[in-house]
Amino acid sequence: MQGVIGVYSREDASTKSIHTLYGVQHRGQESSGVTSAGDHSLRTWKGRGLVSAVFNEKYAAFSHPSDYVIIGSASGENADASYAPLESIDNDRYHFSLALDGYFPGEKISNEHVIKDSIVKHLNEGKDFVEALKAAMKSHRDSYYCLVIAVWDRKEKKSLLVAARDERGIRPLYMARNGESFYVASESAPIDVLTNMGEDFIERKDVIPGSILVVEDGKLIEDQVLEPNKAVCVFEWVYFSRPDSVVEGKTVHNARKRFGHGLVDLHDLNKVYADDKGNGLVVIPVPDSGRSVSTGTAEALGVTADEGVIKNAYMGRTYLIDDSEYRKVASDLKHNIIKETVKGKKVVLTDDSIVRGTVSESIAKNLRQAGATEVDFLVSYAPIFYPCFSDPINKPLAAKAFKGKSSEEIGDLVAGNLPSIDNVRYNSEEKILEAVGLPPEHICTYCISGYDPFKE
Ligand code: 5GP
Ligand code: MG
Repeated sequence: MQGVIGVYSREDASTKSIHTLYGVQHRGQESSGVTSAGDHSLRTWKGRGLVSAVFNEKYAAFSHPSDYVIIGSASGENADASYAPLESIDNDRYHFSLALDGYFPGEKISNEHVIKDSIVKHLNEGKDFVEALKAAMKSHRDSYYCLVIAVWDRKEKKSLLVAARDERGIRPLYMARNGESFYVASESAPIDVLTNMGEDFIERKDVIPGSILVVEDGKLIEDQVLEPNKAVCVFEWVYFSRPDSVVEGKTVHNARKRFGHGLVDLHDLNKVYADDKGNGLVVIPVPDSGRSVSTGTAEALGVTADEGVIKNAYMGRTYLIDDSEYRKVASDLKHNIIKETVKGKKVVLTDDSIVRGTVSESIAKNLRQAGATEVDFLVSYAPIFYPCFSDPINKPLAAKAFKGKSSEEIGDLVAGNLPSIDNVRYNSEEKILEAVGLPPEHICTYCISGYDPFKE
C-alpha cells in the first residue's frame, strides 16, 4: 500500500506538499519521495525511510521557488530500489513523473513501470498527455490505481497536475480546492489537517472512480474516462485508513465504532457478559486500530473502555516481518501491558483483524501474565479466507482451514489454536457492510467473501 499526494499552488507548493505527505505516512513507511515541476523543469527527490527522515527540517528547500506542481508518495511493502515517484523521459514533448497506490496484475516490473510504459506507448503514437493517460486507463481495466502525475510540457513550457482513479475505486483518493490551489491525497485527513494551518477549502470531495483530474493554469478539468463501477476495499474502514478520514462520505472512526456495536449485537454480548459487568470486566483495544471498535463495543455494553495495552510506536511495522518467530518477538516487545488495568479481570480485547494470529496470541499471553483471568478477542472483521488478489505474499491465514463452517465454530477453532485466548468472536460480512453504511454492491469484500469484483 502507498500514500500519494499532489499539490498545485503558486504559493510555496513545496512546503504544502510535505505538509500533505506527512498525513499519508501511515499508508507506507519504507520510502518517501516527491517530484517538483514548474515552468522550467521537473525534478525528483526520493529515499528510504519516513517523510521526516528523507525531508529534514529544511524540507522545503528541495524545489525551485517558482515550481507549482508537486506530487509525492510514502511507500510501503514491495517498495523496491526504483521507489516512487518514477520519472519518464521517454517522450520528446512530455517529461513526467508518477506515483501510485495500486496494483497491476501479472506483471514482473513494478506497478509504476507498467502504467508509465503504457502512457509512453500512447504518447509516442502522437497523443497529448491527457489522451495518452485515458488510453492507458482503458487498456488496464483489470488493474486498480490512484495515480498522481506531475507533467512538464516542454513545448508549452508549463506543468500540469494530473490525478486518476480506477473505475472500481478500490483505493481512496480525495481532492480539495482553495482558490487556485489544489490538493489531492489518498485520504481526506491529510487534507483536512491543513485547515489548522489556515487553508480554507471551497470544494472538497472523493475523486470519482474512473475519472481524471487535470489542473492546468490554476483551473481544474474533470473527465469521466470510464463509467464508475465501485468496489471500494472494505479494509479501508476496517484498518487501512486513518480514523479521522472520511472515505466515501463515511467517517472511519464512526464506522469502526459501529463494528463494535455490531459485534455486541451479533453475539448477544450483553447477555454473555451480564454477570461479568460490574464484576471486573474490562474492554481494551489493541492499539491503534482496535481503539475505535473498543469504544463502540464498550458503548454497546454500557461499560467504559480502558487502555491496557500500550504500543511502542517507534518499532515500526511488525506485520511485515516474514519470520513468524521473529514476528512474535517483535510483537512481545512492541506491546506492554498496564498491569493495574487487567489484574484479576476478565478482558475483552478488540482488534481490527486476525490474519495469522501472531499479534492476538502474543498480546493475550502477556495479558494473562499480567494477571488477566480470561481473555476474549473481538474482531472488527470477519474470518479471512482468501488472500487479497493484490497481495503477493501468501500468508498462513488463521481461519483459512475452517472455511465453510459457521462464524461461531470458526471463532472456537481459531481460539483453540491460540492458547492464551478463551473466545474469538468475529464480525459478519452483513454487520460489517451495515456498519460502513454504503450500498454493499459498492464494496469489495473479496478476502472474506471470495467475491472478486474483477470477475463479475
Ligand atoms: P496477525 O498477527 O494476525 O498476522 O496480524 C494482525 C494484526 O496486524 C492486526 O493487529 C492488524 O492491525 C494488523 N494488520 C492487519 N492487516 C494489516 C496489513 O495489511 N498491513 C499491516 N501493516 N498490518 C495489518
Ligand atoms: Mg493492529
